[in-house]
Amino acid sequence: MLDWLNDDQRALRDMAETFARKEIEPIANQIDLDEETPHSLVEKTAELGLFGLYTAEEYGGVGADLASVCLVSEEIAKASPAYAGMLTVQMVLCPKTIEILGTEEQKQRLLPGIISGERLFAYSQSEPGGAANIASHLTKAVPDGKGWRLDGSKLFCTQGEAKSILVMCKTKDGDGNEGYGCVVVDQEDEGFTRLPHEDKLGWRGTNTGPLSFDNIYLDADDILGDLLTGGFSHRPANMANLLAHCAVSVGCAQGLFDKTLEQVGNRNLYGKAMSELQPVAYWMAEAHAKIAACRALLYDTVRAFEAGAMAPAQQNVCKTFICETAFDVCVKLVQLWGGSGIMNSTGVNRYMRDARAQCVAEGSSEIHYAIIANQLLHGQPTLVPSNIVKQA
Ligand SMILES: Cc1cc2nc3c(=O)[nH]c(=O)nc-3n(C[C@H](O)[C@H](O)[C@H](O)COP(=O)(O)OP(=O)(O)OC[C@H]3O[C@@H](n4cnc5c(N)ncnc54)[C@H](O)[C@@H]3O)c2cc1C
Repeated sequence: MLDWLNDDQRALRDMAETFARKEIEPIANQIDLDEETPHSLVEKTAELGLFGLYTAEEYGGVGADLASVCLVSEEIAKASPAYAGMLTVQMVLCPKTIEILGTEEQKQRLLPGIISGERLFAYSQSEPGGAANIASHLTKAVPDGKGWRLDGSKLFCTQGEAKSILVMCKTKDGDGNEGYGCVVVDQEDEGFTRLPHEDKLGWRGTNTGPLSFDNIYLDADDILGDLLTGGFSHRPANMANLLAHCAVSVGCAQGLFDKTLEQVGNRNLYGKAMSELQPVAYWMAEAHAKIAACRALLYDTVRAFEAGAMAPAQQNVCKTFICETAFDVCVKLVQLWGGSGIMNSTGVNRYMRDARAQCVAEGSSEIHYAIIANQLLHGQPTLVPSNIVKQA
């Protein structure tokens, strides 16, 4: 499989595999237990150039393709899906959004900090009325004569402790025109509050929590793209990030599979290796087949994305199928560890917990099923059919 990889992609995958094995694997369980990623790991990731992997060379990045990004995400996720989830936000979602929406000056000013790891970003869209239900969102930017003012609150912002946050918000200009756009909020901005982060089931290596914006002043430097019409024009960044997210699920299942294969080969039960028990052998074969199918679907979609030839809702099919399958695989693999799979100290069940978080983050499976259904039934790969949007 993946026999089409070129030498650069193979070398990158090998580099990420070595990095994950040497630097992440030994601390991955501690990251999960403490719910904290050591800053030294962020520094090492930056030294390897991974935060700049998907950013154009003219801004100091590597300019690699999405297949390379997915290969790296998979390898890191084999050791720590939680850290890989954090990495995709820094490697894909935030820098690509800035690259698409930003002015030349903003790109030159903001991107080097992400690449060096000195100015990490978070991406904040979700609100209490439903993350994908944008009509219900209340966070809003309005003009104040000089610049704009931002008010509102957000939920579930991962890496809310990052120096800067890309905040998706409703907008309304002085003429009453309404839109949806993206602004940059910094930790030190007056009116910004980061509330205590959540204690969560999975993705425990990253902080996820609510944010509040009270009359924050935004000048032109803080506005990315057109605040009225720019809201969804960074969609390629969201789509690329969604596929990198799928790669994390593939790596998550593969990481636990590799550990389990060793376990069932080494563990003796009833005087023979566990792997000789027929149901165990079947489960391993089934898990292998499902992971291989997920990987094939992922890279088929990645290549279609890069060729500009994705079928409508293809990324949504990818997201639901891969994330849910990876979770199912992890549930069965945890079972093969018996009591050891339930003990947090073994670092086995964190894969299953991270796999579940993967099914909700980047849009829950049902949201993606709704989009797929709308494509099938109404020819619209969006959450709400256009006739309903018009009525709303
Ligand atoms: C670990 C983690 C990290 C996250 N990080 C971030 C982040 O950094 N930034 C950010 O903005 N958000 C983040 N999120 C939020 C995430 O994007 C949302 O939780 C997700 O999109 C689901 O939205 P919701 O929680 O508002 O669920 P809701 O929209 O309230 O939905 C609840 C449930 O209703 C069902 N449902 C919803 N809509 C539909 C529909 N159209 N059709 C059928 N069923 C539906 C689904 O079962 C869904 O799970 C994160 C979430 C997690 C778990």
